[in-house]
Amino acid sequence: SCGLQTLPTEFAWSPPCLRALTAIQRDFEIDDEKLKRIAARFEEELYEGLSKHGENLTMEATWVHGLPKGTETGSFLTVDLGGTNIRVCWITLRGRGCQPEIVQKLSHIPEVVKTGEAHQLWGFVADSIDHFVRERGLHCTASSPLALGFTFSYPVRQDSLTNGRLKTWTKGFDIKGVEGEDVVSQLDKALRAKDLHIDVVALINDTTGALIASSYMDAETVIGAIFGTGSNAAYMENVGSIPKLKTPLPPDTPMAINCEYGAFDNSHRVLPRTKFDQMIDRDSPRPGEQTFEKMSAGLYLGEIFRLIICDFHDHGLLFKTQNVSRLARPYTIDTAFLSALESDTLPNLVGKFESISGVEATLGEVQLLRRLAEVVTTRGARLSACGIAAICKKKGIREGHVAVDGSVANKHPTFKSRWAKALAAILDWQSDRERDPIRMVGAKDGSGIGAAVIAAMHLRY
Ligand code: BGC
Ligand code: MG
Repeated sequence: SCGLQTLPTEFAWSPPCLRALTAIQRDFEIDDEKLKRIAARFEEELYEGLSKHGENLTMEATWVHGLPKGTETGSFLTVDLGGTNIRVCWITLRGRGCQPEIVQKLSHIPEVVKTGEAHQLWGFVADSIDHFVRERGLHCTASSPLALGFTFSYPVRQDSLTNGRLKTWTKGFDIKGVEGEDVVSQLDKALRAKDLHIDVVALINDTTGALIASSYMDAETVIGAIFGTGSNAAYMENVGSIPKLKTPLPPDTPMAINCEYGAFDNSHRVLPRTKFDQMIDRDSPRPGEQTFEKMSAGLYLGEIFRLIICDFHDHGLLFKTQNVSRLARPYTIDTAFLSALESDTLPNLVGKFESISGVEATLGEVQLLRRLAEVVTTRGARLSACGIAAICKKKGIREGHVAVDGSVANKHPTFKSRWAKALAAILDWQSDRERDPIRMVGAKDGSGIGAAVIAAMHLRY
């Protein structure tokens, strides 16, 4: 309906513009054959990460032993420190079949915290907990401390459920004094400094949270995944299939694995990286890390798109007489605008783009932006299917639910359907199937509910 023909000729894309678009489409296209090669390499990296020799995927043991029965009950305090927000919750579990009750407080993580010092971060987290506990009138004393489930969405190495050393910051965080340290002791110290009697009983990843929260309600859950600011998944393995793990636990003991697959292909063997991907990596706080995440996750999709349109502008193909100084600033475009580009009308988008960038685009230019957004998000969705397909192939999973949370999965209008199409292509599903045997289901609030369920499993309520 908004094809090239329907626009007045003055808005039509010029031949050089069309050529540039064609080149971008070619560089960003990942056809089904290539997808399969990426998924096959992904599966190899899953095995490598579980063995002693993993170089990219770290396949972290979570010490969550098995899926919940659905009978876990009780009320728990949880904190979810993600890439964008902090969420403190009081969650009451009533068993499978009853929706958990959630009382929550969400706050944005200030930019200064994201790039500051350890004491600022933990002070901020402890303050958020303190405010919440006071506001809700929750009591904690030395003799009856509150149990806290802490969801920390960064790669940590754990040797129990209640500790974890941060390996590296991801998602643009760059806080001094935390890498290499146990995040639970750092949080403990900040809580004690505020006289808060709160015990961290479980430190978990958001993907493990999604897996466990969804399993609590839905026994068909096989994987927990995040398609949000960052990108990652967790699934259940047996201890006997984790050669690198030194543990007296019997080989058939289940153990949830946090794949940390944002680091897939850090050794650059298979992903078709463009010059834009290289620029993002080069200018990030941790160059060389999170190669897969930087091509597929929400934090980066808008930035890839921004770099492309700046490149078009540099070549005189877009916004010719406009002041693009605001657009030249890194990370000024987020996935919310990419979502809008694929769902809103062209005239509305002209206004939205102007308020973000200060640039007055023509209808034809906005239409080009839409096309470029589709190209970037389609590649992200197709890559996102590779990680899930690899886990399914490795585990021989033929059907089940992939519990997903994250802004890209939840808010982008076409991400899910493109992801499903790519998964079908990789796994060679018949086109006349009645429905997809492996399907994405929402795991909203999975980080919080999952932390509560894991705390309950651990405390054997
Ligand atoms: C982190 C993972 C997390 C994912 C999604 C990545 O950057 O390394 O731990 O699960 O983002 O939030
Ligand atoms: Mg999150």
